[in-house]
Amino acid sequence: MTGLSFRDLALIDVERIKGVGEKRRAALHEVGINTVLDLLTTYPRRWIDRTNEARVSDLVAGEEALVLVTVREVVARKLKNRRSMVTATVGDGSGRLHIVFFNQPWRERQLREGLNVVLFGKPENYRGGLQMSNPIVDLVGDRTGRIVPIYPQSEKAQLNTWELAGWIENALARCEERGILDPVPESILSEHQLMGRHQAFRAIHEPDTMRDKDVARRRLAFDELLRVQLVLVMRKRAMERDAIGIRHRLDGGLVERFHANLPYELTTAQKRAIDEIAADLAAPHAMHRLLQGDVGAGKTVVAVSALLVAVQGGHQGALMAPTEVLAEQHHAGIKRLLDGIEVGDPSNLFGNRPLRVELLTNRVTGAERREVLAGLADGSVDLVIGTHALIQEGVRFHHLGLVVVDEQHRFGVEQRAMLRSKGEADNPDGTVPDVLVMTATPIPRTAAMTVYGDLDVSVLDQKPAGRTEIVTHWANGPLDEMAVWSDVRDEVAAGRQAYVVCPLIDESEKLEVASAEETFERLRLQELSTLRIGLLHGRMASAEKEATMNAFRQHELDVLVATTVIEVGVDVPNATIMVILDADRFGIAQLHQLRGRVGRGSHASRCWLVTAEQEDTNPRVDALVASTDGFELAEADLELRGEGTIMNTSQKGRSDLKLASLRRDKELVALAREAAFAIVDPDPTLQSHPELVDELSLLFTSEDEAFLFKG
Ligand code: ADP
Ligand code: MG
Repeated sequence: MTGLSFRDLALIDVERIKGVGEKRRAALHEVGINTVLDLLTTYPRRWIDRTNEARVSDLVAGEEALVLVTVREVVARKLKNRRSMVTATVGDGSGRLHIVFFNQPWRERQLREGLNVVLFGKPENYRGGLQMSNPIVDLVGDRTGRIVPIYPQSEKAQLNTWELAGWIENALARCEERGILDPVPESILSEHQLMGRHQAFRAIHEPDTMRDKDVARRRLAFDELLRVQLVLVMRKRAMERDAIGIRHRLDGGLVERFHANLPYELTTAQKRAIDEIAADLAAPHAMHRLLQGDVGAGKTVVAVSALLVAVQGGHQGALMAPTEVLAEQHHAGIKRLLDGIEVGDPSNLFGNRPLRVELLTNRVTGAERREVLAGLADGSVDLVIGTHALIQEGVRFHHLGLVVVDEQHRFGVEQRAMLRSKGEADNPDGTVPDVLVMTATPIPRTAAMTVYGDLDVSVLDQKPAGRTEIVTHWANGPLDEMAVWSDVRDEVAAGRQAYVVCPLIDESEKLEVASAEETFERLRLQELSTLRIGLLHGRMASAEKEATMNAFRQHELDVLVATTVIEVGVDVPNATIMVILDADRFGIAQLHQLRGRVGRGSHASRCWLVTAEQEDTNPRVDALVASTDGFELAEADLELRGEGTIMNTSQKGRSDLKLASLRRDKELVALAREAAFAIVDPDPTLQSHPELVDELSLLFTSEDEAFLFKG
């Protein structure tokens, strides 16, 4: 008899569990527990080791402790202003303790006389005895055993931990006869010293020792991560398999000429990334690579090197930027970088011609546009820089070899697929272009394995030498803000320039623009009235935006007041001061991006994070003051905001990590990825692992599934 698979368990309604009647079933349904599988994967959020708990007589004022007590007496009282207070006396035979709850009137109903509860809190001296205010309360009923699992309780659905524990115990007992099936190959379990699945379910819900549940948790968390990695790795391999890639030539000499022409040495990290990309480009499969690098790490040179690999073999390259301003800026910058670089001209045996770089956005119109389009179609344009328009409008390429996508924070799988099918449709031999995605939003490496798990990743973890560190200060409240403007005036007097970023207003661009206009007027008339000051925001006409940017670039303006339109790509080395107003409205990553607009030249740079109200602490601002390292900040961000922020919640399987944490389980993420490759590579469609396939198809969405059964 085979063991019970997840699918088997998912087919058994919770109603079949002893003690679950119609009413409890409805309550369970409310918290998303419908099947025995749901029940078994409802994990304790804590475990209480009864041998470690304190006696009431051992409690010391000011020291947090856990006690198991019986409720003796409960009193509810109304206070002024519709506030309420519930007090109770509890004890364990060794002594008595008072507990008090403010504004939790329902505690009166929860804490009935004679009930056994576990309390966690800090006792304080009160009227000659000890009292805990608002302790954490767990109702444990009459459960015995040395280690008591505490499940998430739901006040609303009126589910408590001892009921859940009882049902789970019952469910586990009923699995004993057939056993729970383990779909993970034995070789992987033994290699990574992972407990069997059935044993792990027992040990997480009914551990004999605290160590037991840790070992069990490791196994079950591994399974969650393995499933995600299997889907990603299969998708990655499927993409490599299904697309006819281009074997780019590495011997054209063009990249070397470009590098020799640069006014600086490449950093070790840049060289490594270029090598990784080149190896991918030369390989027969289509490249799908992410280039991660902090602001200012020098991604552009790496991207241009990759584009030149495509060009030297007779292909075209395209670079897509998210906005017109950025596309124009990239176009100007890349043209400058490639000035004087020539490519071989097959129509002229010994001759060369200048490399042709063009711009294509919706602002390129008329005859100019027709010329660019013709050049793309006949192959005389080597590189094209543009916006999304490049891909979406009826633009035809002669032979597109590589697409680089810049600064897409969350570039979806679907969009990436669209990009490459664009090239596939055009290329006469049916090859698909390689894709390089660049992002300046660093995410921790293990998180990247999950979020971008179907991509290869290159990391620029080093900045070019000679950069001046950006020193960041917190201007906490209106008094500090005055000092900021005086600092701006001093810098301008010393010949430098400044950015002022206006508050982010999520709800409405219109409000955001209004607030930027207001800030601009105020600064122009008051704090910065002696300076030349300009305004830049998203609702301005393109030509006007461009004129303002140019004026700032040419130092005809001292101060640029802007909305977040300057977040990416603006590069003015003489700008050394960045003032970010209402900094607490921005996320860590965005503040870091904004700050990266300064520190681009040889002068010392500063960033002021201004918060409107004086506050005691501000963890996000503190993180930015403490570090200029994007990866360090990404870790801090993950710490502060949790996993949800980097996970695409619409992708069910990925957001389904109940035990595993990308933050805490780095080692496991790496193990799971390694294991996924070990399983998929010898058997790309998992033919010899039908049980794993069944589990994946049960737990993942149809979109993910499509990749599983393709093949
Ligand atoms: P990113 O796009 O990663 O934020 P950029 O590619 O815009 O960074 O590069 C930022 C600046 O650093 C540019 O002015 C560029 O010329 C310069 N730069 C890039 N690589 C190097 C290097 N190896 N040494 C010195 N300066 C460099
Ligand atoms: Mg850039």
